[in-house]
Amino acid sequence: MLIALLPGDGIGPEVVEQAVRVLNVVTDKLTYESAPVGGAAYKAQGHPLPAATLDLAKRADAILFGAVGDPDCDKLERHLRPEQAILGLRKELALFANLRPAKLFPELADASALRPEVATQIDMVIVRELNGDVYFGEKGMRTTASGLREGYDIMSYDEAEVRRIARVGFETAQARGGKLCSVDKANVLETSQLWRDVVIEMSADFPDVELSHMYVDNCAMQLVRNPGQFDVIVTGNLFGDILSDQASMCAGSIGMLPSASLDDQQKGLYEPIHGSAPDIAGQGKANPLATILSAAMMLRYSLGLPDEADRIEAAVAKALAGGARSPDLGGTMTTAQMGDAVLAAL
Ligand code: ATP
Ligand code: MG
Repeated sequence: MLIALLPGDGIGPEVVEQAVRVLNVVTDKLTYESAPVGGAAYKAQGHPLPAATLDLAKRADAILFGAVGDPDCDKLERHLRPEQAILGLRKELALFANLRPAKLFPELADASALRPEVATQIDMVIVRELNGDVYFGEKGMRTTASGLREGYDIMSYDEAEVRRIARVGFETAQARGGKLCSVDKANVLETSQLWRDVVIEMSADFPDVELSHMYVDNCAMQLVRNPGQFDVIVTGNLFGDILSDQASMCAGSIGMLPSASLDDQQKGLYEPIHGSAPDIAGQGKANPLATILSAAMMLRYSLGLPDEADRIEAAVAKALAGGARSPDLGGTMTTAQMGDAVLAAL
C-alpha cells in the first residue's frame, strides 16, 4: 500500500521521520513516496500545493502529513500561503470527517489543564464535520439602512451533509462499543434542528449505539466538569472546531494528539493537531508522539491493520511509563530519542 509522505514545514519533517521509523517496525506492507507541501513547496516550486503533490495524495492509499506554516511566507497573497495547502487537500480529496481522539495517558496526568483525577477519565473521540457549516456559506460585508457596517456568514447544512458525518459518528461509536453524543444548538438554530432530526432517524440503523443529545454550551461545561461521561461526540464544523481544541488541552500537551481527516471511502489524511512550531524547528525539541499516534490511526482507519495500530499505541504508553519525556512534557529528550524510546518499547 502506498503512503504519501507530506512532511511540510518547521518540525513537520522531524516528526514524520520518527513516525516512519515506527511504521517500518510494525509492518512491511507499506511503500512511501514523499512530496513537498506548504512553505517548503512554495520555496521549491512556487506553489504550496503543487500539482504533483496533489496527484500523489490522490494516488496514495493514505497520507501522512506533518505540518505547514512558515513565517517567511506571512506576507504572501492568501492563495500562496502554506496553510492553503491543507485546505486545498481537504477540499480536493473531499475529506469531510475529522476525527480527533482525546485521551490522557495516565503517566501525563499532571500535563492536563484539569485536576489529575478528572483528567485521567478522558478517553473520547470528537468527530467534526469539515466541509460545511458557517465556514463555507455565503459571507460578506454590507451597509445597513442606518449606515452601519454589517458582516454576515450564512450557516447551512443539507440533510445529505448531516447524514454522512452522522454515519461516521455512529460507526466510530459502534467500533468502540460505546456511546454517541450528538452536539448541537437545536433550541436556537434551524441547522441544529435538522441535524438532530437526521441523527435520530439514523439511530434506527445503529440499535447497539447509545445515543444522547447535548447543547453545545452545556457540552463545553461538561467537558471540564465531567469529561469521563463522553465516548464519541459528533458535531458540526464550528462547534467541533472549538470543542476539539478545548478537549485537547484537557488531555495534555499539544505534542501528544493525533488526528484523521477521512473521505467516504475511509481514505484519509493523518496529521498531528499541532502546527509547524517554527520557534523550535531544527532543534530536536519537537515531541513526535502526536505524529506517531497519527500513523497508528492511519493503520487502523485506512489500511486495515488494527493490530499494528494497537502495538504502536501500546508502545507509546510503555515509553511514557518508562519515563520518555520531551521538553513539552517536562523532560529533556530529543525528537529522535523519543522515537528511540518507542522503538525500544516495540
Ligand atoms: P498552526 O496555526 O499551524 O496551528 P500555531 O502557531 O497555532 O500553528 P503550533 O505550531 O502548533 O501553533 O505551536 C504552538 C506552540 O506549541 C509552540 O510554542 C510550539 O513550539 C509548541 N508545539 C507545537 N507542536 C509541538 C510538538 N510536537 N512538540 C513540542 N512543542 C510543540
Ligand atoms: Mg494553531
